[in-house]
Order: sequence, then C-alpha cells, then structure tokens
Amino acid sequence: MNIVVQKFGGTSVANLECQKQVMKKVLRPYREGKKVVVVLSAMAGETNRLLALAKEWSDNPDPAEVDSLVSTGEQVSCALFTMLLKQQGVRARSVLGFQAFIHTDCSYGKARIVNIDTDELKNMLEENDILVVAGFQGCDEQRRITTLGRGGSDTSAVAMAAALDAEVCEIYTDVPGVFTTDPNICNDAKKMDRISYDEMLEMASMGAKVLQIRSVEFAQKYNVDVHVRSTFTDEMGTLVTQEDIDMESVLVSGVAYDKDQARVTLVHVHDEPGISAAIFVPLAEKKVLVDMIVQNPSKNGRTDMTFTIPRADLEQTLKVLESLRYEIGYEELLYAENVSKVSIIGVGMRNHSGVASRAFKALSDENINILMISTSEIKVTCLIEDKYTELAVRTLHKAFELEEGGMKPESS
Ligand code: ADP
Ligand code: ASP
Ligand code: MG
Repeated sequence: MNIVVQKFGGTSVANLECQKQVMKKVLRPYREGKKVVVVLSAMAGETNRLLALAKEWSDNPDPAEVDSLVSTGEQVSCALFTMLLKQQGVRARSVLGFQAFIHTDCSYGKARIVNIDTDELKNMLEENDILVVAGFQGCDEQRRITTLGRGGSDTSAVAMAAALDAEVCEIYTDVPGVFTTDPNICNDAKKMDRISYDEMLEMASMGAKVLQIRSVEFAQKYNVDVHVRSTFTDEMGTLVTQEDIDMESVLVSGVAYDKDQARVTLVHVHDEPGISAAIFVPLAEKKVLVDMIVQNPSKNGRTDMTFTIPRADLEQTLKVLESLRYEIGYEELLYAENVSKVSIIGVGMRNHSGVASRAFKALSDENINILMISTSEIKVTCLIEDKYTELAVRTLHKAFELEEGGMKPESS
C-alpha cells in the first residue's frame, strides 16, 4: 500500500474556500492511486476560542475536561472536510484520535504519543481511499481524550507517517517552507531547501512555531523526511532531513525568537549542596519547563539564582516557590514578564569560533542589552527586553548574511 500523509494547519482549513484548496492537494496523490491520510488542525482561531471558554467557565478548569473541549476543534474540521470529499465521490471517512487508537500518556494538555494501532488504520485504509484524521488529539489508558500541546497536529502527522511507513510526509501551512527566520517579521528571510533535524529541533525549541518540537523529535527518531510547504502555492518547500556535509558550509542557518517567556530570580539563596535540587525538582514535578539558568558567584554564603520559563507557567512557578520560601531560604522572589529570547542556530557553529561574539557585537551596535546568555553546540540564545525582539531578529539575520544564503566560515 503506497501511503501519503498530508497535514494542513489552522489557516489552511479556516473556511470553505481554503478547504477547497486543500482538497486539490489531497486529490493529487489520490488520483495517482495512492492512499492518503490527511491530518487536520482546527480552523484558525478555534483552539484559542475554546481555551478562552474554559477560562470563562472556571478559574481552574479540570485539565481532562479542557482536553475534551479543545479537541472538538479538530473534530469539526475533519467532519466538514470529509463531507467535501464524499461529495466528490471519494471513499473517505473522518477518524478521531481514539478511533485511530492514538494512545498517549495522561499528561493532559501536553500528552505524548506512546503507540498507534497501525493494523486498525490499515483496515480502515482497505475500506477507504482517504482517511481524514483529527490532529492534536489522542486517548489515554483510561480512554479519556488527551491533547498533544499547541501545534500538536504536526506531531500527529509525523507519528502517522512513521507508524504507516508512508512514502511522504507533507506539512502544508501558510508559508512556503522553513525560512531563515519568521518571514512574517523579517522581509529578508529566505526559504531553505533543506534543514537538518538537529537544526530544526533547535529552531522549534527556540520558538519557530512552523513545526512543533515533538514532531521533529519523532521525525528524527523514525527517520521520516518531512516536507514543509504552502497550501496556497505549488512551489517546493523545505525538506527536514538528516544532516549532510553541505549544511555545515554556513556558520548560522537561522534565527528564532520566543516572546512567551518570563524570568524569575530568587535573591540571596543559601549557596550549599542541594539548593538547585530544592528549587528545580518541585518545578519539574509540576512539569514547568525551565530553560536558561544562571547562578551568581556567592557572597557570604548567599547567591542569586535566575532562570527562564514559558510565560504560561509563571503563575504556577510563583505558587510553588512561595510555598517553599522557608525550605529554600531565599530573601526575595522577583520576576519579569517583558522578556524574550532570540537565538541563532547552525550546525556550522560546531567547528568554528567567533559566532557568539559576532552576535553580541551586532546586538550591542543596536544598543540592545543582553540580560542572559545560554549556548549549546549549535545555538546561542540571548534573553532581551521583549520590545526589541523584532529589531534583534533582523539585526542577527543581517549580521550572519542570511539574506544572501548565510555567512561562510572563511569570511567570518
Ligand atoms: P499552521 O497553522 O499551519 O500549523 P503555524 O502558525 O503553526 O501554522 O506555523 C506557521 C507560522 O510559523 C508562520 O506563519 C510563521 O509566522 C511562523 N514561523 C516562525 N518561524 C518560522 C520560520 N523560521 N520559517 C517559517 N515560518 C516560521
Ligand atoms: N489546533 C491546535 C492548536 O491550535 C493544534 C494545531 O493546530 O496543530 O494548537
Ligand atoms: Mg502549527
């Protein structure tokens, strides 16, 4: 069975006109005699609308009920799109997460896929030529609906492609591929023909929401080539694939940013063994994703501990830390919400020096103050005031000549 997986995001299924456009893409492989698994998101804005309803109804909505609520967005787009297909005489049906046996753990709101029943899907594909699968949702051991985190339909699609050993996994969206940075904030952003899994993973982790992080993890683990492309044009997009030697030929491949950040500082904690564990273990237990951590040198046995978290986790983080005030023994708990992260990413950084210093110089020439820095083998991240985000992105994009295909190591 030749199977093609195609995923369409919220703006691609936003209304009837868009869905007709989607149908053209879906019918192409179908007419070539292939089986098509179409993974759909909720119509643009729908997931946000449903989340807002949950907040209106309850100060502290039950997480399992929130998942049950927000998963309906995908159910609507799948049912409507299947109606369009059936009108064309196509053998098709909609398939929800529990019907496709997409088993997840029970972390409501950020569930992980543990298993997909491929036999069941293949049976459905015997009887149908196109399956329209609801993205973003699964089902846990207690047969409750779960969701996979924002942008989770990307992960549903890649997981389907891996499970069904599909020949192609295409992610259709509102931009023509993965760009050197978000094309919606930088006019000079260039579409990449290819990007390695590692780079895409860093881009996604650092805020480039064009693919959900977990979808890239899945693709890398199961060696699925992912083709990111536009719903509204026919041009080739970007292939997310294994690294090859050409990819190292530029120092920096992309710039990402993340505005949904907050910074927390614990002032004058005791500098003694176990202090980091006392702070970060309880946060990890609440599934707070701590990113940059800086501990200052201690004075008189006391130090300051500063770290960043997603802004959505701030309330929870402050609650946990306030409840541990005496255990941790800090003097003051400070936080800031007006911060964002900008990152430069590139496998070319592995073997070349001077990349971070060039980035710092470029930001300083624009008078942008760096609040925190973190680095990995293929990434440098700076925390800055959020009002400078767009300027910082454009500045770094220019500093590494990304509009011209990227700075080569020898010219650095
Ligand atoms: P969908 O609804 O199709 O899943 P998303 O809104 O989740 O689409 O992702 C597409 C958006 O990702 C683009 O509109 C763009 O603003 C943003 N984006 C951020 N960084 C990048 C990048 N490096 N390349 C392409 N798009 C990016
Ligand atoms: N509808 C979900 C969201 O808005 C999942 C997705 O679009 O991928 O996050
Ligand atoms: Mg998305």
